[in-house]
Amino acid sequence: MIPAAFEYYRPKDMAGVLSILEEHGDDARVMAGGHSLIPMMKLRMADVPHLIDLQDVGGMSGIEIGPDAIHIGAMVTQAQIIDDDVLATAAPILREAALQIADPQVRYMGTVGGNVANGDPGNDMPGLMQCLNATFTVIGPHGERDIPAREFYEAAYMTAREDEEVLTSVTIPLPKGGHAYEKQKRKIGDYATAAAAVQIVKQDGVCSSASIAMTNLSDTPIYSEAASAALVGTTVDDAALKAAMAAMLDDIDPTEDNRGPVAFKKHVAGVILRRAIERAWSRP
Ligand SMILES: Cc1cc2nc3c(=O)[nH]c(=O)nc-3n(C[C@H](O)[C@H](O)[C@H](O)COP(=O)(O)OP(=O)(O)OC[C@H]3O[C@@H](n4cnc5c(N)ncnc54)[C@H](O)[C@@H]3O)c2cc1C
Repeated sequence: MIPAAFEYYRPKDMAGVLSILEEHGDDARVMAGGHSLIPMMKLRMADVPHLIDLQDVGGMSGIEIGPDAIHIGAMVTQAQIIDDDVLATAAPILREAALQIADPQVRYMGTVGGNVANGDPGNDMPGLMQCLNATFTVIGPHGERDIPAREFYEAAYMTAREDEEVLTSVTIPLPKGGHAYEKQKRKIGDYATAAAAVQIVKQDGVCSSASIAMTNLSDTPIYSEAASAALVGTTVDDAALKAAMAAMLDDIDPTEDNRGPVAFKKHVAGVILRRAIERAWSRP
């Protein structure tokens, strides 16, 4: 299929983007890498009469690593995340997760901002950002505001970002401890049947903090506070693993689709989470 007719805009700055968004309301949509939006337009699942390309807008392509936090511009691609060795040292889970997104061609175009703003429950970065307790910065006609990743997702394709706002950057507190991003998919390039992002801090052999988020197991990513809490104060033994898995299963709400029935998805979610916790725990 080919998309419906649309007007194409390529503004040189954010003021230009915001004025087109203000003029056309929800008839206008920004495009970053286009690797979610263009397929949706071709399938006629998204009707976008006014398409605003962000490629020429500066100031959203940098990665900065500070003493306490990492700032990633919205237009940084998944390939840049993978290629940045300094970033991979500061937050190795970012590279580990990005390598499991789609394939190299998609990753050269797909951006961090597009992945987190899209609102597709199958995207990998929203759960990852919830695990890392990231904050999203958006700019709109009334200025800038910050939205915690854990409060950003409301339902499939519905987020706390207003139509006339653009996501400009993601800020991540420097992660501590061991990490793992575990993803079960049907084949290379596929979205997750289930994925788990885990960060764990170990002190004297005991878990002092944990953060767990799951992908594609509800209509939003799921940050499971209860699963995280089930590990804290334990040696992450079998009982703690089972408690974390049970708590996570209480928080997710998968639906049957071409990736399998609900019981299968819950089973996979448990297996994936156990593997992710064990791997994160085994890492310094
Ligand atoms: C074959 C294939 C396989 C894929 N597999 C995976 C996978 O396994 N995991 C995964 O996570 N993703 C997967 N993707 C999606 C891919 O990673 C996308 O590129 C990504 O989700 C969206 O990023 P983008 O820059 O292409 O955004 P776009 O397609 O340009 O935009 C996506 C949406 O976000 C909005 N948007 C984009 N940027 C901004 C911004 N700065 N501010 C506000 N709104 C914005 C757009 O308006 C649009 O609604 C796959 C895509 C393809 C084609």
